[in-house]
Amino acid sequence: MGDKIYTDTPPKCDFCDLPAKVDGKTNQGPWANMCAKHNTLYGCGKLGTGYGQEIKPTSEKPAPVIRDAEDLDMADLNEYIDQILGYSISNFYKIQETDAIP
Ligand SMILES: [Zn+2]
Repeated sequence: MGDKIYTDTPPKCDFCDLPAKVDGKTNQGPWANMCAKHNTLYGCGKLGTGYGQEIKPTSEKPAPVIRDAEDLDMADLNEYIDQILGYSISNFYKIQETDAIP
């Protein structure tokens, strides 16, 4: 899991009406969506797995890095296909598999 998520529809800060800049652990323990000010006040001060993710607009998403084919695995290929199609085909298949479970 990265320390950044990209979306053009960020959730609201849990403490005010501003769009959240961080989805992360608070210094009290529970997680919260926080704007920059409330992240400074209540955030745990770290980002990454177990701490939180910075919420960024999709316009700041870095371009995909194309690597040699032998370095790619199925997850990379699914991600690449998602980027080309603009939606998550791997999620679509996950939903289909889940639906098949009685
Ligand atoms: Zn706030």
